[in-house]
Amino acid sequence: MIDLPAYDAEHVWHPYSSLIDPTPTFPVASAQGVYLELEDGRRLVDGMASWWAAIHGYNHPRLNAAVQQQLAAMAHVMFGGLTHRPAVELAKKLIDLTAEPLQQVFFADSGSVSVEVAIKMALQFWFAQGHPEKQRLLTVRNGYHGDTFATMALCDSASGFHGMFEGVLPKQLFAPAPKCSADGQADGTSIGGLENLLERHHGEVAAMVLEPIVQGAGGMRFYCPAYLRRVRSLCDTYRVLLILDEIATGFGRSGTLFAYEQAEVVPDILCLGKALTGGYMSLAATLASEKVATGIGADGRGVLMHGPTFMANPLACSVANASIELLLESPWQQRVAAIEAQLREELTPCRRSPAVHDVRVKGAIGVVQLKQPVDIHRMQPRFVELGVWIRPFGNLVYLMPPFVIRPEELGRLTGAIGTVVRELS
Ligand SMILES: *Cc1c(COP(=O)(O)O)cnc(C)c1O
Repeated sequence: MIDLPAYDAEHVWHPYSSLIDPTPTFPVASAQGVYLELEDGRRLVDGMASWWAAIHGYNHPRLNAAVQQQLAAMAHVMFGGLTHRPAVELAKKLIDLTAEPLQQVFFADSGSVSVEVAIKMALQFWFAQGHPEKQRLLTVRNGYHGDTFATMALCDSASGFHGMFEGVLPKQLFAPAPKCSADGQADGTSIGGLENLLERHHGEVAAMVLEPIVQGAGGMRFYCPAYLRRVRSLCDTYRVLLILDEIATGFGRSGTLFAYEQAEVVPDILCLGKALTGGYMSLAATLASEKVATGIGADGRGVLMHGPTFMANPLACSVANASIELLLESPWQQRVAAIEAQLREELTPCRRSPAVHDVRVKGAIGVVQLKQPVDIHRMQPRFVELGVWIRPFGNLVYLMPPFVIRPEELGRLTGAIGTVVRELS
């Protein structure tokens, strides 16, 4: 018998992990609803939805059936020269659900790749318009857009993800992090910084890339719709495309189906991923407006230069179709609103702890920001002891549970955070 944790610790890399000083890992045998079942029989309430993805919980009969049905027909075929019903139906769903100008879909195999594709679209668009000098990208501090090279260059190096690669990454432009005043208006100094950059550099900037309303892995921060509205109008003024990265926020997490709806803006290019398949498989999509899509072909040569081997995998597209149907049939708005209210009520008391810097809640996202980075070697096993799966990073302890979580289960998650915070102070 293989000793899973021991062999794993010596031989298998996990996300952002060290094989010299491995953090503890916990073998999962199965998962059901909002519970992860460990090999040793313990059951944990899942507070992470496997990183924003498993919005319906695990082992869902409808999603299982979608995969099984598709599996019986075909697991995969190449997408070059061939097409299939799961992909075309999914494209139609995404086009119908998103803003009217978004009419063309590229299916990518992960979120990072969908952002890479968005960047290619923007560069190719300007190239075809006779502006090959528009090659740089503009973003904001505290963002996160993925781990591949082009996307690393859009992550804030101060957030510690990719600092060591700075020398090999293209130098993109960083505006100050979005700031909003208490009355929900865009903060003048932060938008002024962005405006300055655009004024000086718009001639070389192809696109602005940012996460709408919620900045995820770069710091779990929220900002006001007014800021995003200003971004849209500045992009229009300075002839810069707007790429919105909804990989984390898409499919209801922030309270609306897509976070950009809260600002009533429309992006030129939109990236979706994570919850797209309900957490079943890796799939992402890049949607482009008709203007961008036709613009890429404007010089008569415009072939979009990307084509992953497993593009539009039929199993992934089928489960994505089922996941979207399931979401839209469910009372997801009420569920997210109820999670938001409970998170606010039960996490806010953590503010009184001297160990806590801030508590913030938006949609089905609850964040307790500590003053010090957590000691993951200690805190992770402690959460498991408390019967919950919560995965802090840096100084952030946060929850983004499946939407189907019940109040008493959510209470166990917030209760565990309360306990850990008390133990810290
Ligand atoms: C997770 C994430 C990505 C990267 O997606 P992967 O599937 O991990 O490559 C990009 N942007 C945002 C906002 C994300 O949350």
